[in-house]
Amino acid sequence: MTPEEFRSAGHTLVDWIADYRARLARGEYPVQATVKPGEVIAQLPNSAPTHGEPFAAMLADLDTIVLPGITHWQHPRFFGYFPAGGSLTSVLGDMVSTAFAAIGLNWQAGPALAEVEQVMTDWLRDLMGLPDTFSGVLQDTASAASFVALVSARERATAYSAARGGLQTGEPPLVVYTSQHAHSSVEKAALLAGFGREHVRALPVDTSFRMDAAALTAAIAADRAAGLMPAAVVATSGTTAVTAFDPVAEIALITRREGLWLHVDAAMGGSAMVLPEYRHLWAGIEAADSIVVNPHKWLSVGFDCSLYLVRDPEHLVRVMSTSPSYLQTAVDRQVRNYRDWGVPLGRRFRALKIWFALRDQGTEALRARLREHVQWARDLAGLVTTEPEWHVVAPVTLQTVCLQHMPAGLSGEALDAHTRRWAQQVNDSGAAYVTPAVVNGRWVVRISIGAEHTGAEHIAELWSILQTAARAANPLSGASRFGREYP
Ligand SMILES: *Cc1c(COP(=O)(O)O)cnc(C)c1O
Repeated sequence: MTPEEFRSAGHTLVDWIADYRARLARGEYPVQATVKPGEVIAQLPNSAPTHGEPFAAMLADLDTIVLPGITHWQHPRFFGYFPAGGSLTSVLGDMVSTAFAAIGLNWQAGPALAEVEQVMTDWLRDLMGLPDTFSGVLQDTASAASFVALVSARERATAYSAARGGLQTGEPPLVVYTSQHAHSSVEKAALLAGFGREHVRALPVDTSFRMDAAALTAAIAADRAAGLMPAAVVATSGTTAVTAFDPVAEIALITRREGLWLHVDAAMGGSAMVLPEYRHLWAGIEAADSIVVNPHKWLSVGFDCSLYLVRDPEHLVRVMSTSPSYLQTAVDRQVRNYRDWGVPLGRRFRALKIWFALRDQGTEALRARLREHVQWARDLAGLVTTEPEWHVVAPVTLQTVCLQHMPAGLSGEALDAHTRRWAQQVNDSGAAYVTPAVVNGRWVVRISIGAEHTGAEHIAELWSILQTAARAANPLSGASRFGREYP
């Protein structure tokens, strides 16, 4: 494709994206993909084309093959999982990043790439009210950042064992502590960093789903008594199921006293810290050794974009750096070489989409949006509590509402079956998209607010959809089945 051909195809494609978003904003698609497993595969050729095809053919396949296979995360009635940053300005930033097709192996291979990243990570840190004792780097996902954090913790606890025999020198086993409500990526990171499942403690939570700090103290003492070596605590700011905040200040007192690494997984909740009124939720954060926040969740920046902050970049570089001769340059001492701040060598220009998204919106509009989402979550919880058969099952801290429909005569496994049935009917109907999850051993339905095109009216629509679906799913209600009443 020549630049002139690109100009023409690109204009057409930007029009296609704009039309898609306009239709999406009007709620014109079913939220959930309508395909069955294998349906997309069946429409694709078995091998790559021998001769080039016109761009129009690709565009046509977007409509016929791809769109039906998309679950629309930016749909106004998407309330699943977590908000995924969907600002169109970040789409444009990503386009430029791909257009440069430059790979930041070191500063010299892309000076602007490195320096815009440095400034954007500072901007985000400052926006969240964190002190400048933290330095940031962009990673693809929180999973990768938490892995790096636990490798860093391991290396500090073992005085850099990786430079010697690694974990194969017969040292006492290292232990990681987190809560039962931690994200699965924490366990994955601990396993990949070599701690072993036997040495990952999933601590109990209190009635507000926050890590029980007394249980942490007790577990550390028990492990020390058993000859193990406690190494790290992973606290969560904004847990996956109910968006709970572990008591960072209490945990930090313990990690300081015990000399443990403190990593805070704020992948979801960190975004809320751009709002000063929520910063009390992670009070004590200055003591963390590392923090991860996903701007690609609730800060309008498109996936992927995860911010990893550390208090001791020299330690990070010492752990992550191998510095072969072909990557060394004369300016290495004056610049940041982000290859030594994480796992990948090559990096793309992720910072551009942050820069674009923040400049387009400005921080006040961004803050206003977040506040609106929290308000809608509270409004929804208010509606739910006025209905006798409905219950809000966890505190509404930010934009997540966990609820249950508990009709008379249903309990235990029958209630679970009912919950899963009505949630699935909501999703299969295409009217809205929600995520069922287990909280306190029972199935509940999570409503996560914050898709790009959601407005207050969609919350009211959602509430009516939930009520209709739950009534229809209740075997005792006699109501008719909840069908595809929506586009
Ligand atoms: C979303 C989330 C993750 C995982 O995010 P990825 O960036 O997809 O790896 C981890 N922890 C928490 C608390 C999350 O909300």
